[in-house]
Amino acid sequence: MSIIFGPIPSRRFGKSLGIDLSPGTKQCNFDCVYCELDPARPMNHYEKVLEPHSVLDAVEQALREHRDIDVLTVTANGEPILYPHLPELIEGLDAIRGHTRTLILSNASTIHRPEIQRSLMRFDMVKLSLDCATPTCFKRIDRPHNDIDLERIKKGMLEFRKHYSGALIIEVLVVKGINDKAKEMEALNDYLLQLRPDRIDLGTIDRPPAYRVEPVSYLRLRELSLAFDPSLPVHITSRRDIGELKHESYSEREILETLAKRPLTPEDVDLLFDEASRARLERLLEKGSLELIENHGVKFYRPVGKSIDK
Ligand code: SF4
Repeated sequence: MSIIFGPIPSRRFGKSLGIDLSPGTKQCNFDCVYCELDPARPMNHYEKVLEPHSVLDAVEQALREHRDIDVLTVTANGEPILYPHLPELIEGLDAIRGHTRTLILSNASTIHRPEIQRSLMRFDMVKLSLDCATPTCFKRIDRPHNDIDLERIKKGMLEFRKHYSGALIIEVLVVKGINDKAKEMEALNDYLLQLRPDRIDLGTIDRPPAYRVEPVSYLRLRELSLAFDPSLPVHITSRRDIGELKHESYSEREILETLAKRPLTPEDVDLLFDEASRARLERLLEKGSLELIENHGVKFYRPVGKSIDK
């Protein structure tokens, strides 16, 4: 299996080249019910370890072949922060990447460790999963190795946030019957208000999952997004079961109130608003009552004067 995958065009990050630190074998300390890889016993260390020079040689070669890469995305068939040579890897990437940005996708399981924080700190963007803020829910959905402690992860993320100046994105994946309750979203909201990430991506299962679990609809994601404080930049990433949606009519006042509660992306507006309401939204933009802002590759409409950034 190849260490490099892509390039993959991404609306949010540009043209991305993926770096898989565990090609061919799932090596993860979680066994999430929604994982797109096969179920596997969680492990707390890599059993098969790539030499950092073989990863860096592969990246260098790929960057020579593809000269227009916007971002190098470090991930794994499993969990990249378990890779024991992460410090050497990021150091090597920094030396060869030029202007290409770096992103890591992680489950944050060992973020309480100072050496992991030091490595993450060197990425331009860090995207961490956090599906539940309560321990029972966390264990049901992420099925972690028994040496993983949710409170330690939450404290570690807060510590990391204090020092990290890049873009911190939190991904919440919603599974029907597990974390799709308002009380779970409220617990996440309370925690995320302390963490203040740069963006929260709220999604559901989009690919065949490891276990027999189901996604929630777009409408349910939209309802759950309202459990978050309006100051938190929540972005709905999955658009499933949108057949049940009817375009609704919104007056100018209702548009301003709706967007004050939760800024919406142009894609959300297309799904939720009827044609006349979209025209009203355009008028509000022209009048300067609304603005379209960009948050790390995602556009949002919001009332002027409302902050959805930190
Ligand atoms: S953390 Fe990622 S790789 Fe690991 S089990 Fe969960 S979804 Fe799969």
